[in-house]
Amino acid sequence: MKIKYMFLTILVALVLITIVTISLTSYNSFKKTEASFIGKSLAIMQEDLSETSVQIKTLHDKASSDLIFALQYPPFKEYFSLPETRTENVYNSEGVLQFTPAQRELKTELDEWIDFFQSRFPVEETCLIDTTGQEHTRLVSREIAFDEDLSSEEETAPFFEPSFQLQQGEVHVQYPYMSPDVLRWVFSYTSPVVLDDSSKPSFYHFEMPISFFQELVSEGTPRGRIFVLDNKDLIVADSEQQIDISYKGDPFDEEIELKVNEEKIEDYLPSIDSISTSPGFKAILEDMKAGKKGSGAYNDGGITYYVAYQPLPTFGWSIATIRDYDSLLEGESTLDNLKKNIFIIIIAGLLIGIIAFFWASKTMINPINKLKDASVKISRGNLDIEIDPKLKASKSEIGRLAQAFSVMTKKLKESYEGLEEKVRIKTKELRISNKLKDLFIDIMRHDLLNPAGVVRMNAQTVLMDEKDSKKKESLKLIENSSDRLIKMIENASVFAKLESGEKIDLKRMDLSVVLKEAVEGMTAKAKERGIKIKLDTKGKFPAAVNPLVGNVISNFISNAIKYGSANSEIVVGIKKESSSWRMWVADEGEGIPDKYKKAIFNRFTRLEKEAIKGSGLGLAIAKKIVELHNGKVWVEDNSPKGSVFFAEIPIRSNLKK
Ligand code: ADP
Repeated sequence: MKIKYMFLTILVALVLITIVTISLTSYNSFKKTEASFIGKSLAIMQEDLSETSVQIKTLHDKASSDLIFALQYPPFKEYFSLPETRTENVYNSEGVLQFTPAQRELKTELDEWIDFFQSRFPVEETCLIDTTGQEHTRLVSREIAFDEDLSSEEETAPFFEPSFQLQQGEVHVQYPYMSPDVLRWVFSYTSPVVLDDSSKPSFYHFEMPISFFQELVSEGTPRGRIFVLDNKDLIVADSEQQIDISYKGDPFDEEIELKVNEEKIEDYLPSIDSISTSPGFKAILEDMKAGKKGSGAYNDGGITYYVAYQPLPTFGWSIATIRDYDSLLEGESTLDNLKKNIFIIIIAGLLIGIIAFFWASKTMINPINKLKDASVKISRGNLDIEIDPKLKASKSEIGRLAQAFSVMTKKLKESYEGLEEKVRIKTKELRISNKLKDLFIDIMRHDLLNPAGVVRMNAQTVLMDEKDSKKKESLKLIENSSDRLIKMIENASVFAKLESGEKIDLKRMDLSVVLKEAVEGMTAKAKERGIKIKLDTKGKFPAAVNPLVGNVISNFISNAIKYGSANSEIVVGIKKESSSWRMWVADEGEGIPDKYKKAIFNRFTRLEKEAIKGSGLGLAIAKKIVELHNGKVWVEDNSPKGSVFFAEIPIRSNLKK
């Protein structure tokens, strides 16, 4: 990994760890603060509810106590104590209740009293009903009903029976019903008129529309949605919707009294399901219906809602406030600030990370990169490197590295320059010695070979005419010696040429032909010793080789003749190895001891064979030639005796393209 990327990774990891730590801590503190704010908000919601609930309770208590108080007004008792009231009601032909003057007088007093009473409450209807179900007085919205409008069928009203069960000072509160008088859903308070003899000739009754609750929640606190829940899962009042409680049927229907009684409240009040059907909300509703006070939360459509609730004193109803998460925490500047701060911290963390990265890469990676560039230059042989003086002056680790680097470059330059000088001198010396060698080869070729040739030629010429046997022997010796001398000079110059590294040319040749020619060239010489040469080849062996390869085989055969036993057989062969041609010459001579098997390929190595004359260069030249073809030479023992000389040349590697 490049140091730059390693550094980048470490830095990014550090920045990430820092940001994650900050985020987690911030998230944690945010959650705690949020929980405390939610708790606080729920408490406020509960307080708001208490206010509304207290209003309802106050009204309820006040309505009950004022009802009892109102009944203490003497004309109630006086009216029902009149003998004419105590006897049966008197009706005219149209069924209208007839009042005696005494009754009328007291009724007028009662009407005024009731009117005063109504003025204190959101009461729509108040009446006085006797045991027959006959109304004796009735005020609807502070309007005194005419005698002919007084109903005589109130015994069917839901509160009729319970009201007569009450004792003096007791109040019955009637669960909502559709009022035939005001044609709306109302609830009512009743209490009996109890005479001194404990008889209960009538009860006093007043109605309040259930819209009273709607008004309360509507004008209530603006914090959240407030609703009043009925035990039948109906919404009695809801700050977020207008609930129409007016009679839906025909108000002029003749049988309206009966029809009104058949109305069902669930057809007028919305179901609580219209707020939410989520299981969390349902669980809260159960608590509410059980009359508990408390708070909870539920999730609906991905939004969390918080609910505070408490029971109401009427009909097992309860009241609740709902607020969603956003509105609950709305205006909570601390929380908003916390959110903002967390955001700012994370952004600041990121910015600091980025700045730190650029700063670090400038102060750390750039110098390292400079050193890297310098080392690349050095590796390419450029030692004229100038390292930034500021960097060298720095006391940091990198600065010290730069100083060491600079010293190293200087030393390298010095030693390089010394080396150059040495190489220059050596090259000069080599050039001189090469020239001397060339001169020596030239001298051998021209100045030695010619006189040797002349000696041999003259010896041969004189030998032809010489009759004296002693002189003839001497001349023969001269001829052989000069012949050996010439061969030696020729071999030495070939070897020198090969050693000089001159490139040799390759030619496409069939190696079986090369072998054949070598055998033919040696046949006469072999015959002299009674030796037979057998050529063991079949097919073609094409290769790109220099014709000198022929000399290698000739040398092997020549040695086999020289060192083989007289009248023996020499076998010359070739075969294909995996990727090369293997040629060999096997003789039946004395063989070569293992310790010399390698050495004989070095120049001038000759085994102790006094009788046989040689230069000791033949095998060295053969080795050189084969190696120039990327091949190899070696010798093995022949069976049962003698040696096998091998030369192996790759089939392809030397092919010129
Ligand atoms: P030269 O034959 O001129 O001495 P060579 O380089 O050809 O030089 O051979 C080196 C030596 O290896 C020889 O002097 C000889 O002792 C030994 N030698 C070479 N060929 C054979 C052979 N076929 N059998 C036994 N000895 C051999």
